[in-house]
Amino acid sequence: MTFLEAAGWTVLMCGTASLFLTITRQVTAMRRSKEVFREEMRLLRERLTAVRASRRKTEESAGPWNGTRKFRVAKKLIEKGGICSFYLSPHDGKLPLPSFTPGQFLTFNLNIGGRNETRCYSLSDSPDPHSYRVSIKRCVPPRDNPDAPPGLVSSFFHDAIEEGDLLDVLAPRGAFTIDPTEGTPLVLSGSGVGVTPVLSMMKSLIDIKSRREIYFFYGIRNGAENMIADDIRKWNSLNLSNVHVHLCFSHPLPEDTKGEDFQHDGRVGIDLFKELLPSNNFDYYTCGPGPMMQSIRDGLAEWGVPNERIHDEAFIAVKKSVDVKAARVSFRKSARSLQVSGAATTLLDLATEEGINIPFGCCTGGCGTCMTAIISGKVEYESTPKIHVESGSCLPCVCLPDGDLVLDA
Ligand SMILES: Cc1cc2nc3c(=O)[nH]c(=O)nc-3n(C[C@H](O)[C@H](O)[C@H](O)COP(=O)(O)OP(=O)(O)OC[C@H]3O[C@@H](n4cnc5c(N)ncnc54)[C@H](O)[C@@H]3O)c2cc1C
Repeated sequence: MTFLEAAGWTVLMCGTASLFLTITRQVTAMRRSKEVFREEMRLLRERLTAVRASRRKTEESAGPWNGTRKFRVAKKLIEKGGICSFYLSPHDGKLPLPSFTPGQFLTFNLNIGGRNETRCYSLSDSPDPHSYRVSIKRCVPPRDNPDAPPGLVSSFFHDAIEEGDLLDVLAPRGAFTIDPTEGTPLVLSGSGVGVTPVLSMMKSLIDIKSRREIYFFYGIRNGAENMIADDIRKWNSLNLSNVHVHLCFSHPLPEDTKGEDFQHDGRVGIDLFKELLPSNNFDYYTCGPGPMMQSIRDGLAEWGVPNERIHDEAFIAVKKSVDVKAARVSFRKSARSLQVSGAATTLLDLATEEGINIPFGCCTGGCGTCMTAIISGKVEYESTPKIHVESGSCLPCVCLPDGDLVLDA
C-alpha cells in the first residue's frame, strides 16, 4: 500500500468512525430524549393525578354533591305554630343520604310564577340515612306593614308543595354547627321557628347519648306554638341528669300550665342564663330574631364569655349601613357602572338598586348563590362568609367595595 492509499484509508476510516460516533450520539440523544420525554410524561401524569385528587377533595369539602339534586317530598306534616315540616327523599333513590353536621341548612332553588327564587331552610332533625327534614314557618306580613304581601316562598311551600312533588336542592352547608362528639358544656337556645337548627343539634346529642352538660331553651308565645312538644316529652322521659330543658312562654294561654307545659314567663335571655346556669363556662348557640340574638350576645360578652364561645345564626340578614370610601363599581356583563360613596349596606343591595340582577339566597354569606367573580379590585367583608369563597370571587350579600371594582355580573 502506497503512502497515499494508506492516507486515503485512514481518512475514510476516520470519517466513518466520526459518522458512526455522530449517529451513535444522535441515537443516544434520541433515546435519552425519549427517556426524558417519558419521565416528563410520568411527572405530568403524577401532577394531573394530584390536581384531580385535590379538586375532588375541594369538591367533597364543598358539599356531598355539586349543584342541585332532585328530592321528592316523601311526607308533608303540619306542625303547630304555622310551621310545616317536609321530609325529603332523593329522587334517584340512592341511599344512604350523605350525612350533615347538626345546625346546617339546605338551599332550595324554586321557580315561582316564572321567577327563580332561592331560600335556605335549616335541617330540623338529626341525620337520617333515608330523608332530610326541614320545618318551614309561613312568613306573614310585618306588623308595621300588614298590607304587604305574605312571604313568597314559605307560602308556596305551605300552599303549593305536596307529597310526591320534586324539589331542586343544594347540598347541606353552613357553619353554625356543633360537633356532637365533643365534650364541652352547651347552651342551645331557639325562639319561634329559630329552634330548627338547635333542635337538630339537640336531637343528634340525644341520639348518641351524649354525656355533655346541655341546657336547651325554647322561647315561644304559648303551647299552641309548641311544635316540639313530643320531642320534649321524650327527652324528659329519659331522665337524663345532664340534660336541662326550659320552655319560655311570652303569652301563655289559660290552658298552659306553668311547671308542666312551660317553666318560665317571658323570653329567652341573658337574665335566665345567669339565673339557671351553674357558671358561664358553656358554648352558646342561639337562633332567633335579630334583637334577641344581639341582646344575648351583648349580655354574654358582658358576663365574660369569650367571643369564640358565642355562636348565633340569623334567618333574616341584619343589615347595617357603613360608610364606604368613594369607588367606581362596574358590572361587566350588564355593561353598567355606578359611583359609590357614603352610607351603603352591601354590594348586592347596591347592584339591586341599580337594576343589576345578581341571584341571591340567604343574604347572610351562607349559601353561595350570589358568588360573583371579581375581574379587578378588592372587596371588604362586613360579616365573615360562612362558606369558602373561591379565590378571585366574592359574596356580594356580605361585602362592600374596597376601592374601584369590576365584577363579572
Ligand atoms: C341559614 C338560614 C336558615 C333558615 N332556616 C329556616 C327554617 O328552618 N325555617 C323557616 O321557616 N325559615 C328559615 N329561614 C328563613 C327562610 O330562608 C326565608 O327567609 C323565609 O321563609 C321567608 O321567605 P319568604 O319567601 O316566605 O318571604 P319573603 O317573600 O322573602 O318576604 C319576607 C318578609 O317580607 C315581607 N314582604 C314581602 N314583600 C313586602 C313588601 N313589598 N313590603 C314590605 N314587606 C314585604 C313578607 O310579608 C315577609 O314578612 C332560614 C334562613 C336562613 C338564611
